[in-house]
Amino acid sequence: MSVSIGWIVHPSDIDPRLIEALAKAGVNELGVHPGGGRMAGALMKQTLSFWLSVRGQALRALCESHGLKVECDAHVLSYLLPREEFSRHPEWFRMDEDGKRNPDSNLCASSPEALAFLEKRAYELGQKLYTPSHRYPWWPDDVRGGACHCPACRSYTKAEQALLITNAIARGVKRADPMGTVGYLAYQDTLETPRRVTPEKGVYLEFAPIDRLSDTAIDDAGCEENARQISNLPALLDLFGRENARVLEYWVDNSLFSNWRRPPVPFQLNKEVLRRDVAYYRRAGFQNYTSFACYLGPDYAAAYGEIPIEQYADIIRQTGEA
Ligand SMILES: [Zn+2]
Repeated sequence: MSVSIGWIVHPSDIDPRLIEALAKAGVNELGVHPGGGRMAGALMKQTLSFWLSVRGQALRALCESHGLKVECDAHVLSYLLPREEFSRHPEWFRMDEDGKRNPDSNLCASSPEALAFLEKRAYELGQKLYTPSHRYPWWPDDVRGGACHCPACRSYTKAEQALLITNAIARGVKRADPMGTVGYLAYQDTLETPRRVTPEKGVYLEFAPIDRLSDTAIDDAGCEENARQISNLPALLDLFGRENARVLEYWVDNSLFSNWRRPPVPFQLNKEVLRRDVAYYRRAGFQNYTSFACYLGPDYAAAYGEIPIEQYADIIRQTGEA
């Protein structure tokens, strides 16, 4: 069974040199990630302008000519539902722990109008960002504790609220691309299994153990945090299915290692951890692997030279297909 190998970067990390190196190494998917945190909506807007610009279109065409499928991996919620809507529709937004409607993150997952608006906006975005792999990793806000506490939402867990949001995005995406699939991002507060909400057709599991320790394998039983990250993974795979499930890792995420502050620090691939992780994920049932790979763009190459793309892709291919 052949595996799919991805590489996820910020727009500023992309240049023709990187695209050619990825294609040469046999990477199949290039993800464009605007950035997370509270600025995710504004960053998404900038990324969209970048992709629709002449330079963005040329880079995209270069990717396609090399068989590299481009996707947008983004916390899209505050782009799809701009916070400015709060003055007109406070009931679309989440109720915080103090009982006040608050536009700070996500939305009221029990508001049919908010979900319908999200669906419509996802449809519009899907029309602008057609993706040849049909993979649309479009996620709720990148915050911890951003759930709605209104009487209707209170009985849903954070994971269930995230799935209600993901399902609405998936309905919109599928109107734009009938083969479209949308990732349910399992990380932070959403690693537990949603029970009261079922994934709609086309929603796949995107497993992103952001709180893992990077210097030891994900299945190192002696590492409490890594063990916690994967403790519920088999149940998540049972619910979402294994066929299209994808690992979204941090193996080559130099933005994480640089503490999300440029200039980037020198990067070294931990081959042993990568090999052991992929072996674990393969046994769990995955065939699709990607990783954030930010801060390894032109500024990195100018400062430090070589990026270990080939080693990364070889280890995933050899271990993932074994
Ligand atoms: Zn609510």
